[in-house]
Amino acid sequence: MTDSSREPMLEVEDVVHRYGMVTALSHVSLSAGRGEFLTILGSSGSGKTTMLRVISGLEMPTSVKVLRIGGADVANLPAAKRNCTTVFQNYALFPHMSVVENVAYGLRIRKMNAADALREARRALAMVQLEAKADRRISQLSGGEKQRVALARAVVTQPAILLLDEPLGALDEKLRQDMQIELMELQRSLGMTFVYITHSQEEALTMSDRVVLMSHGRIVQSGGPLDLFDRPESRFAAEFMGYENILPARLIGREGTAGIVEFPGGARTRGVVTVEGLKAGDAVCVALRAERIAPATEGATDALKAEVTNRVYRGKYIDIALATDAGPLRLRSWHGSHVESEDIRRIGWNTNDAVIFAAE
Ligand code: ADP
Ligand code: MG
Repeated sequence: MTDSSREPMLEVEDVVHRYGMVTALSHVSLSAGRGEFLTILGSSGSGKTTMLRVISGLEMPTSVKVLRIGGADVANLPAAKRNCTTVFQNYALFPHMSVVENVAYGLRIRKMNAADALREARRALAMVQLEAKADRRISQLSGGEKQRVALARAVVTQPAILLLDEPLGALDEKLRQDMQIELMELQRSLGMTFVYITHSQEEALTMSDRVVLMSHGRIVQSGGPLDLFDRPESRFAAEFMGYENILPARLIGREGTAGIVEFPGGARTRGVVTVEGLKAGDAVCVALRAERIAPATEGATDALKAEVTNRVYRGKYIDIALATDAGPLRLRSWHGSHVESEDIRRIGWNTNDAVIFAAE
C-alpha cells in the first residue's frame, strides 16, 4: 500500500482494538513511507485517535499482527521507547516555562546539555517562524502560536514519525488554512514521516501524499488525494468526499473502467466504474459533483432533459435544483460562469466525472 519508491517507515498490519464492548479498530492495516505525509480521514468516532494511540504506544491494542517503526518491531515497546512523537489539538504545553524552555524540554530529559538544547530549540522555533517570541510565556501567545510551539517541541527531538491528532482543530478558518500550508512545507523540508488525523476532507486533500478514509473502525478507501476526490468506490466515500448527487441506476454494459448505466426512467449515461467485479445487470450508484454538471446544447450526445425546480443564491455560486430524466440533480454554477437557470433545458457532464460503484 505504501508508495513503493519509499522505504517503509511505519507498518501496521491487522490491528484490532476494543474498549469493552466497543470495537474501535477492526482489522486495520496501513503503512507510511519515509518522508510521506499520510492522512487518516474520518468522522468523529471512526477510530482515528485510537489508531494513533496504538502507533505511539499510549494504547496497547487487543491484537496486532505487525507493528514496526523504521523496520523495528515496536509492538511490545512502551511509548517512550518508540521513535515517534504526538502533537495534540490542545497543545499540552507547560504554562510555567517560556516558549524556548518548552521546546528545549524534550532535549533536556534526553540529557542534552543546556546550551546545546537551547540552541536546538531556537533553531526549531525558527522553522515555525517563532524565533522572535522564544522568551515569552506560553500565556502570552495566540492559539496559532501555541500550536507552532507544540510543533517545534515535537520536531526538535527528530523522531522518525510525527503523529498529529487534529492539530489545527482549535484554530479559526483563516489561520487553519495558513497553517495547513506551513505544516506541509515544514514536513517537506524536514523529510519527516507525518501521520496526520483530520475529519476535514479539504485538509486531507490539501496536505497529503496519501489518504486513508476510515469509518466505524475500518478502512473504507485509501489512495492519493485525487483518487479519493475523483474516484470514490462506495456511497460512503462519495458522500464523505462531498458528492452532492448520488443516483440509483443499473449497469448495462462495461468495457474496462468505462460503464454504461440506465436510470429507472430509462435514460442512459456513461461513466467510470471504480470497483472491480461489477457486471452488467448489477445495481449501482452514479455519483456526480454539482459543479461538474453543465447545461448542454441541443443535440449534444448523452444529454438529459432537465427542468429547474429551485435555485438558491449562495454568494460565490448558485445551486440549481433540477428534475431530470436521471432523477433529481443539483447543479452548481460559480459566479462568473453565469448559467441563467431559465435557459436550462438539457444538461450533461464529462464521462470522466460520472463515477459508478456498487449500490449497497
Ligand atoms: P476518532 O478519533 O475518530 O473520533 P476514537 O478513536 O477516539 O475516534 O474512538 C473510536 C471509538 O472508540 C468511538 O466509538 C469511541 O467512543 C470509542 N472510545 C474511544 N476511547 C475510548 C475509551 N477510552 N473508552 C471507551 N471507548 C472509547
Ligand atoms: Mg479523535
